[in-house]
Amino acid sequence: MSKATSLNMMDPYSDERTKMYFYENRLKTFEGWPFNEDCDCTPENMAKAGFIHTPSENSPDIAMCFFCLKELEGWEPEDDPEKEHKSHSPSCQFINLKKKVEELTVEEFLKLQKERNKFIISKSCKEAGTKFEEAAKLRRVDIIKTAMGEE
Ligand SMILES: [Zn+2]
Repeated sequence: MSKATSLNMMDPYSDERTKMYFYENRLKTFEGWPFNEDCDCTPENMAKAGFIHTPSENSPDIAMCFFCLKELEGWEPEDDPEKEHKSHSPSCQFINLKKKVEELTVEEFLKLQKERNKFIISKSCKEAGTKFEEAAKLRRVDIIKTAMGEE
């Protein structure tokens, strides 16, 4: 799974990304979520706290806030999704929202969308930066190898 394409980073205004503002759509992503009964981090509570389920092959319990893009894994049954979200991402405006998304004015929604785009841009910059550093590291190893071989 490629993160960049699944998140549709290049087009933050696409419907695919805006639809996650709504609880029902987030809830739908929690198919196969490992915590369902007798626990606090049920799909319902996860979706309520802004999370969407973004599993990978090795980690079936990765969840990401659709808004601040904070990814959390290693969930325990007694974890409270809302508390976890607030403590790991205190600057997320979505989890700190006082109103329901449906009750926001257009102006408030657009303002929120602007904040969300900042998270999207900062995350894609970080990812690009990491990729660059990894490539630079490999290149450095090559240069050293070549240099050592020539000695
Ligand atoms: Zn968040």
